[in-house]
Amino acid sequence: MNISSAIFDRSAPDLESCPDESLPEFAFIGRSNVGKSSLLNMLAGKDGLARVSPTPGFTKLINIFTMNKNWRLVDLPGYGFAHVARQDSARFNEAVLEYLQHRKNLSCVFALIDSTLPPQKIDLEFLEWMTGHSLPFVLVFTKTDRVSSVKVQENIAAFMDRIAAWFEKRPEIFMCSAITGDGRRELLGMIDKSLVEEPGEAAEESEPSAADVAPDAEDAPAARPKASAPVSHPKHLRRARPW
Ligand code: GDP
Repeated sequence: MNISSAIFDRSAPDLESCPDESLPEFAFIGRSNVGKSSLLNMLAGKDGLARVSPTPGFTKLINIFTMNKNWRLVDLPGYGFAHVARQDSARFNEAVLEYLQHRKNLSCVFALIDSTLPPQKIDLEFLEWMTGHSLPFVLVFTKTDRVSSVKVQENIAAFMDRIAAWFEKRPEIFMCSAITGDGRRELLGMIDKSLVEEPGEAAEESEPSAADVAPDAEDAPAARPKASAPVSHPKHLRRARPW
């Protein structure tokens, strides 16, 4: 996929302030300093999103961009200020949790993980929360150029080891570098594929068919979580779930 346009839509303080649900959304989230801004600019291409981003200081808001006029890139606030009170609301922005749980046109969450570090508790906590809520996500390991590929593989293996018990089949993973551009084609390809499978006007209200609720293992594109999470998501979200 080529990015022909990236237009800043708005900075939303909460779910209610988000735009209508007519376009599929792909949300990016990770610990502060994971490399999210760099990755998003790399994905957006030539001038990046910086050109169209709001003024700095909007990092606590949900920043939404319309891409190629047919999907939205959602830049979620970074999590993990461990020195703040150890409560979900402090570590994981309330508006973000609300967005993730209730956004009907959310196609997939890209959970960014720093490939240069061993598994971080806060990333594991966040992924555990997403798994418990049956959210569709893939893992994006960032900054792969920064350490040796052996180290990257070691960190990824350790991370996957820590989360393995949560899934029947592991979530899809991507390895990216904002410096070399590695992973860009794969990430955009994944979005492209989702768009073909699930174009806009995603917020269908109709009852899901049995196949949507419990697809056969062979039909499922990737693993499903072992946890028996509440299945209250709309049809679109269930279909897009990568496990
Ligand atoms: P954010 O806080 O998650 O938005 O992270 P930034 O994109 O601001 O990046 C945090 C730091 O990591 C900055 O110093 C970046 O230059 C650096 N960084 C981000 N992505 C990469 C990458 O792919 N490779 C390398 N070597 N450094 C990166």
